[in-house]
Amino acid sequence: MKERETFAENLLSWFDVNKREMPWRETKDPYKIWLSEVMLQQTQVNTVRSYYLKFIERFPTIETLAEADEDEVLKYWEGLGYYSRVRNFQSAVREVAETYGSVPDDGEQFLALKGVGPYTRGAVMSIAFNQPYPAVDGNVFRVFSRLDDDATDTAKPSARKHFENKVMQVIPERAGDFNEALMELGATVCTPRNPICMLCPVNMHCEAFEAGTVLERPVKIKKMTRKELRYKVMLIINDKGELLITQRPKTGLLGGMWQFPMFDEDMPMEDIEAVLDMKLMDKKEKFHTVTHGFTHLDWILDVYIARTTDQPGHDFQFIAENEKENYTFPVSMSKIFSHYQQVK
Ligand code: SF4
Repeated sequence: MKERETFAENLLSWFDVNKREMPWRETKDPYKIWLSEVMLQQTQVNTVRSYYLKFIERFPTIETLAEADEDEVLKYWEGLGYYSRVRNFQSAVREVAETYGSVPDDGEQFLALKGVGPYTRGAVMSIAFNQPYPAVDGNVFRVFSRLDDDATDTAKPSARKHFENKVMQVIPERAGDFNEALMELGATVCTPRNPICMLCPVNMHCEAFEAGTVLERPVKIKKMTRKELRYKVMLIINDKGELLITQRPKTGLLGGMWQFPMFDEDMPMEDIEAVLDMKLMDKKEKFHTVTHGFTHLDWILDVYIARTTDQPGHDFQFIAENEKENYTFPVSMSKIFSHYQQVK
């Protein structure tokens, strides 16, 4: 980085004038800042806004969230995806309520909580308590690899420490604002494909800008391999027009959420009837296909419709269509439900 001494000052002057308004920027409450950081992992700012406001209206404090029923909390997260985030968050908040009474301002204690990694620790400690911790996310990898024209492979596990050290060399007294400013610069100016270098407030410090290597940074060599899993989803309707649902195991992917019965793609209908302990009629050809992507895998869901006059077996239940709102469904299942409502 060129002219390192004035970098933080220039970045903060720009941030003070240009920062976007966000509801979590209007508070220093560590619980709310922590919540916003959890929501912002893997989710866009514009999507998070309304979820954040509804969530803090219902669960305004550590105590209200700690005491809440997990199913209700999941309902407030419905549609945001990556549900392990909110389950870990509630577990951690419960631990905070029992052990500390309020969010600890000790970085080591905070890092030991469930679901808290170095990035969340850095963001909460710096923004809520103004402690000089780095908060290195994808934006900061990108900005710093460009500022230093640094060809370190950001996919390597060691890259985080490498970039945290770089941040620590320039972090000023206003640590929280500085971390937010870096993220803001990465999100609005130093973007992955179309960085606006000519208008960048720190272009005089930027070595990649000078060298003409901006679009070659950051370097990310490791390719993510995605797995594709195909399932059969059964929309089973009884003589009252109700739909059969079941709850996923409490742990693992989408733990505790509700869904239509789902089976391996090659499971024969006779075996499905045996698992459900029910006779199915009008088994049609495939009715619809829905795809849904997670971080490392894609689901392809082939949906079949069938009717039954049997009672549901253990672990299954029928619900009327207007009762769906009382249960938390993952996005993939809500897509199936909407399609069914449109075409039935
Ligand atoms: Fe990013 Fe361009 Fe600014 Fe360098 S000059 S920090 S590459 S926007």
